[in-house]
Amino acid sequence: MAGASHAKEDAPVSEPVMVLRHGRETWCDMDTDTERPEKCLCFRCAHGPRGGGQRPCSMAKGLLKTCKAHAMAMLITRCGSWKPLER
Ligand code: SF4
Repeated sequence: MAGASHAKEDAPVSEPVMVLRHGRETWCDMDTDTERPEKCLCFRCAHGPRGGGQRPCSMAKGLLKTCKAHAMAMLITRCGSWKPLER
């Protein structure tokens, strides 16, 4: 069947909304933003903010710096340096 290759093809896409984050107004895709804490590889990485390591990942720190400067948030879906959290 043509065009049926993506499972969420027919799911409605929500419009971005203006929100206040860290004292700044910013446009937000609420669907993705809500999923970010559980889906983002950085939050599930031993090198990330929940990894408890002595030397936080320099890539994640760089991304955070960019996000803070521009009122952004990122959901990382690929990373060659990802390492699972120890349980
Ligand atoms: S290694 Fe990759 S996934 Fe892990 S915290 Fe750094 S950027 Fe995120």
